[in-house]
Formats: sequence, structure tokens, C-alpha cells
Amino acid sequence: MRSMDVDTMAAMSQVIAAYEHFTISTHIHPDGDAIGSQLAFYSFLKELGKHVVLINRDPVPANLRFLPNADEISAQLPSQPSEVLIVLDAGDLTRIGEELVEPLRPQYLTLNIDHHAHCCEFGDYNLIMPEACATAEILYYFFTKHAQNLGITRGDEIGHERAVCLYTGIMYDTGCFRYSNATPAAHQVAAELVTEGVAVDEIYDSVYECIPVRKIRLLSDVLQTFRLSCEERCAWLYVTQQMLKEHGATEEDLDGFINYIRAIDTVEVALLFSETRQGKTKVSFRSKGAVDVGAISASLGGGGHQRAAGCTLSEDRIVVIPYVVKKVGEAISSNANSIDKDTNRSDSRAPQCE
Ligand code: 5GP
Ligand code: MN
Repeated sequence: MRSMDVDTMAAMSQVIAAYEHFTISTHIHPDGDAIGSQLAFYSFLKELGKHVVLINRDPVPANLRFLPNADEISAQLPSQPSEVLIVLDAGDLTRIGEELVEPLRPQYLTLNIDHHAHCCEFGDYNLIMPEACATAEILYYFFTKHAQNLGITRGDEIGHERAVCLYTGIMYDTGCFRYSNATPAAHQVAAELVTEGVAVDEIYDSVYECIPVRKIRLLSDVLQTFRLSCEERCAWLYVTQQMLKEHGATEEDLDGFINYIRAIDTVEVALLFSETRQGKTKVSFRSKGAVDVGAISASLGGGGHQRAAGCTLSEDRIVVIPYVVKKVGEAISSNANSIDKDTNRSDSRAPQCE
């Protein structure tokens, strides 16, 4: 097992033992790790007989509704604040949606569990493990270590319901075990979950082999916007509200589009610019190489990981695209320069960016 913050885990398990009413929330536009982690925690607390409310700003994506108890998640605010708020997979508290921060303020304590490197310590207890591939991986350690202490009988087993949720989170955030975060520890945890009886093929099919026709039609339009710059090292796509409307699609249908251009052989950074309903521009970043898109995104007010990040800028794409592409181009160039310096090459070929 990894080295981990056992003191924080122990403190969190005392909090769980001491209180009865919990709310669990996760980030806006929730993904497989967000929902998988949230439902695994729900199952854990319910088995302990706790009163648990699940509140997210945005609905559960259709391809994650197969997860056990997904129907329990709602956007409905409770009439009374809970004693404890648990926030999962959110780099800062506003990631649950600014409009939820006040209404979800708990009576006593906030627990923050996350794997983002730049996660700020907004909780009373903060269990942050940037080396974990997913929040679900952290929860696996927490549950297996503390289930028995808290009174879950068979505490050495994770339980099938929680195993399905956690496996989904790990599968999702590692890109089906393809990304660099698919560490030995991630595989070991996944192996334990499969031993618990998780049907990996069924989970894969539920999450990825259920694409609605409208999504393919939308993809076809979005691919028309494909552009390259920076000696083909930066690629981008954009999508407007009008394109979504034409196909009866939502932002949820954009999931995975960026992967098509990230896969291009020359590309180091891929970008997807999407117009929000408020007319802002959401930027998704993916890096294949050493460019730290988490740092670029953070400098623009967003966040994320080194290889997957995002932010939302208030201007129109006409302004945002050249601005962000230029910033990415500079990062690619300076990265290329530093590699040249490191290797002492004299034939530096720093790209000229548009
Ligand atoms: P995506 O491009 O899939 O929306 O997001 C990729 C990753 O970037 C997410 O897992 C999340 O960690 C981070 N991210 C995306 N959008 C934002 C944002 O607006 N703010 C912050 N802090 N992080 C974001
Ligand atoms: Mn995650």
C-alpha cells in the first residue's frame, strides 16, 4: 500500500463515527471518478446506518446511471444543513458549483478528499493524495483500513456495490489504464476490486459502448473545426451552443471528443473550446508530453492535473482561442528549449507558434 496520511484517515473515521447526518457532493459536470466515488461513499455510510444526502449541481451523465444508487443523486437542496459535508474529487470548494457553496455549508465539519495536485485545503480535514490515480483509489484505502473499525462486519472486504463504483472511478480517470497515472498501485487496487467480482467488460460497455446517435452527428460537426498550430504540436476543436442545439445534444455529449485530436502523432497539447450556456468559453486541455497543462489552466483561473485540465473564461471563443493557443505555444516552445538545454543540443528547433 502507498504511504498515506493515516492520521487524517483516522480523524475522518472518527468524524464518521461521531455524526449521523451527511451530505456528499462532487464537482460540476461530474465524471466517472466523481460519481463512482460519491456512490461508493454513499454505500459505505448507508451500511453504517447514517443518514446521507447526495447533492450535485449537474445531473449524473447517462452512461453512469447504471451505477448502484445513482438515482439518489439530486440537485434538490435539503431544508436543513447536514452535520458533515463530504466533498470528493474537487480541487477547490467552488468546483461543486458556486451556487451550492453556501446552501451546503454544514453545521459542523467539511471533509475534503481529492487527488488533484493543487487541491486547496478547504476542509476541516483534507485527505489529498496527488499520487493517487483517482479519488476512488483513495477511498479504497480509506474503506479497507477503516471499515472494520467503524463497524462494517466483513471489513476486510470492500463489498460488491462499492467495488463496482470504485472500479468505475479508477477505470475512468486512468483512461482505461492507458494514462501515466495507471501506476502499479492503481492496478493493484483494480485487481482487488476485480477479485471482489467486478465484471470489467460490463462496466466498460456501460460507460463507453452506449454512444447515442446524436453524439456521432455532433462529433462530425465539431471535427470540422479542427485546427493545428505550433508545427502541428497543438491541436484544437471548438463547439458552440448552436451546434449542440442542432443535434439536441448537451455538454455531456462532448466527453471524449478531445481524445481524437490528442491521439495525433505530432500533437503534444490538445484543446477543446466549448461555448457555455452563459456565453463563456470552457477550455479543456490535454497534454501528451511534458507540457504541464494543469499549470497553464491554473494561471487562467482553472485547475486540473499535469495532463488533463480545464478552466472557464468569460470571453467569447474569438478572443479566447488565440489567447490560449498562444499561451500553449509558448509552453511548448519553452519546454522544447529546456529539453534542448538539458540534452545540450545545439540544433534547437523551438517551434514558431501562430
Ligand atoms: P475536462 O476537460 O474533462 O472538463 O477536465 C479535465 C480536468 O481538469 C478535470 O478532471 C478537473 O480536474 C480539471 N478541471 C476542468 N475544468 C476545471 C475548472 O473550471 N476549474 C478547475 N479548478 N479544474 C478544472
Ligand atoms: Mn478524479
